[in-house]
Amino acid sequence: MDTSSARSRLHDELRDLRQTLEKRRETAGLDESQQDSTGELSSHDQHPGDSGTATFQRTRDLSIEDHLESEIEEVEAALERIDQGSYGRCEVCDGEIDPKRLRARPHARFCREHRSDTEE
Ligand SMILES: [Zn+2]
Repeated sequence: MDTSSARSRLHDELRDLRQTLEKRRETAGLDESQQDSTGELSSHDQHPGDSGTATFQRTRDLSIEDHLESEIEEVEAALERIDQGSYGRCEVCDGEIDPKRLRARPHARFCREHRSDTEE
């Protein structure tokens, strides 16, 4: 299978994901004061309503960042598999992953049969 085009696609994807993550972190950095105010020392001063809203916002931001981080890990792992020569093979059965599936999802780790429900 042609790994050079997969490699360049994965590199593009990695760059985009990192840029998105960086932008999110820069934006989150503007809220530093909010982070301080939820610290243990001042927490008793807070109105429960404000605190709840801030926590909700923070949790939502974190889950998006977590998602981006796990995507980055997936893409990095795929690039490692290209280096190791195991790219395009299912991690469960070592069978070849459908090239159509790899085109749609270059960091796919499993064949159609063994893909996890969360992967797609
Ligand atoms: Zn498989």
